[in-house]
Amino acid sequence: DTLLSVRGLSASADETPILHGIDLDVGAGETHVIMGPNGAGKSTLGHVVMGDNAYTVDGGTVEFAGQDITDLSPDKRSRAGLFLSFQAPVEIPGVPLSSFLRATMAGREGAGELKGKQFRKHVRALADELDMDPAYLDRELGVGFSGGEKKKLEMLQLLLLRPKLAILDETDSGLDVDALGVVSRGIDAYRRATGGALVVITHNTRILEHLDVDRVHVMVRGRMAAEGDASLIDAIDEQGFEQFEQIER
Ligand code: ADP
Ligand code: MG
Ligand code: MG
Repeated sequence: DTLLSVRGLSASADETPILHGIDLDVGAGETHVIMGPNGAGKSTLGHVVMGDNAYTVDGGTVEFAGQDITDLSPDKRSRAGLFLSFQAPVEIPGVPLSSFLRATMAGREGAGELKGKQFRKHVRALADELDMDPAYLDRELGVGFSGGEKKKLEMLQLLLLRPKLAILDETDSGLDVDALGVVSRGIDAYRRATGGALVVITHNTRILEHLDVDRVHVMVRGRMAAEGDASLIDAIDEQGFEQFEQIER
């Protein structure tokens, strides 16, 4: 059952081509990993799938849950069940995190329909699942957040929104032990609660250690250079990406 189907996707930013004919299929409930050297276009792919207007689609299509979403706004994609983790949440002094989460959910089915008090109770239960101190929910949005605290916000959004497919872009900066734990617990809770599909973009193979990975995709210079099962992760761990660098289409 194909959930996400990317076909021949090419995209550019500021007239510079970045993605060159990307194909990617993700089935409902599957876990995929996208790896590749820095600058390969992994984050760009995530943003283009989500509809970020910083990028121009030059060709190809993105289908999600049976619908062509190539020209849809990010908000409509989100409502259709797509989620992309934010790398750097904005700082908004004076806005408590709980209010921000409430706004995220406004007008949505599920937790979005809960009244203020019930909503806070719901968020506290999710925070508890992630092993978070409830005092975190009273913090001001993004102000002075550590890497781990940013991840907590992402994972709370994930558990609140309950997408059909979550794309988690784990950046190149590396996660500290705290952040790594938060992401692992978040992924576990998401899978348990929704059985949703997952695309993890990462350099960090430690995050993948206790994930049941269905498919691994390797991107090099804006193209898919290799695809395989979870054993590809070990091959990359041992030999790096050089083995794929020569591959051209
Ligand atoms: P990765 O996530 O694999 O490290 P990125 O998708 O971040 O790669 O970047 C791929 C290439 O596209 C890089 O050369 C980067 O500088 C460029 N790029 C990405 N986003 C933009 C943008 N918004 N404007 C201009 N260039 C960009
Ligand atoms: Mg990068
Ligand atoms: Mg990146």
